[in-house]
Amino acid sequence: MTPMQSLNIVPFVSVDNMMKLVLHLGIERVLTDLAGCIEADFRRWESFDKTPRVASHSAVGVIELMPTSDGEMYGFKYVNGHPKNTSAGLQTVTAFGLLAEVDTGYPVLLTEMTILTALRTAAMSALAARHLAPEGATTMAMIGNGAQAEFQALAFRAICGVTHLRLYDIDPVATAKCARNLASSGLTLTRCRSAEEAIEGAGIITTCTADKHHATILTDNMVGAGVHINAVGGDCPGKTELHRDILLRSSIFVEYPPQTRVEGEIQQLAPDHPVTELWQVITGAVAGRTGARQITLFDSVGFAIEDFSALRYIHERLKTLPYSEPLDMIADPDDPRDLYGMLLRAGAKAV
Ligand code: NAD
Repeated sequence: MTPMQSLNIVPFVSVDNMMKLVLHLGIERVLTDLAGCIEADFRRWESFDKTPRVASHSAVGVIELMPTSDGEMYGFKYVNGHPKNTSAGLQTVTAFGLLAEVDTGYPVLLTEMTILTALRTAAMSALAARHLAPEGATTMAMIGNGAQAEFQALAFRAICGVTHLRLYDIDPVATAKCARNLASSGLTLTRCRSAEEAIEGAGIITTCTADKHHATILTDNMVGAGVHINAVGGDCPGKTELHRDILLRSSIFVEYPPQTRVEGEIQQLAPDHPVTELWQVITGAVAGRTGARQITLFDSVGFAIEDFSALRYIHERLKTLPYSEPLDMIADPDDPRDLYGMLLRAGAKAV
């Protein structure tokens, strides 16, 4: 039986199978496909149920649920963010997610989403930059060289035509790891000793650092006119990466304002500070970049619709690819109202 044959058997994509799927299709193709899925879903933004994610904060991290539905399918992601984890050999971000049919409420996919989150975040960043970055920008500063970094780099290469990456991390071991992993990517790599050095000559600046406080990865005097900033790491209340003065000079683009106002860089600004919703740029309703000297800022926090797009992409791929295993996840009594009888019969069989 293939995993897709029964409503009671849910296809499960393990980490191992996700890696096989990505390697089978090729990472740059997956990133490009995901950007296409997100773009298509952002074009129909108004057809989604939207809510800021439900966050449970602790002193050391956050655990979040991110649900949405387009009326036909429902999806959610469980994701954590624990910057201290890496010192204990654990990841800062891990995730899994589920897609279900609205019509029956039955799940149709359960999948790892740690790798998928890195892919969709990178695809989202590059999609935003395609609409906002200065024309002809081929050099990107990559500040924060942790788990997300290579995915970001490859998405910008595949989707925005970035050819040169300037790497910086406070931990040189992270930069060495990133440079090693990207050695055969086709990107020209420069390792830098400071954030200032990294942004020299970069038309695009990506910040993707992890810390549970208001950090200042970029100060105002470091950022020249005309650049695009892709600020990925500040995604929690009390956690930001950019000096407030940079925000005051930038045109700011966000995913879902009610969530970004609380979690993004703009938590440093007045609640009515003007921002543009990215979906409106994607539909063409609102202009993105309007001038060569304009600083554009994508204040990325990660929104549920991006995960929904990623879930439906994987669900679609599994129609032709074998990278899932059947999970006996939904009880299936012969008489739907005889759930207890099913348990009794199982007990009788066991003795
Ligand atoms: P990670 O812990 O693997 O890597 C973070 C890196 O940042 C580390 O190498 C660390 O040394 C470096 N760093 C910390 N402070 C720094 C500083 N001041 N200057 C330069 N480098 C510094 O984490 P990750 O999985 O790569 O995630 C990075 C951040 O992105 C996290 O905060 C995470 O919550 C966020 N994130 C956002 C989204 C989104 O959609 N916006 C999605 C995934 C992750």
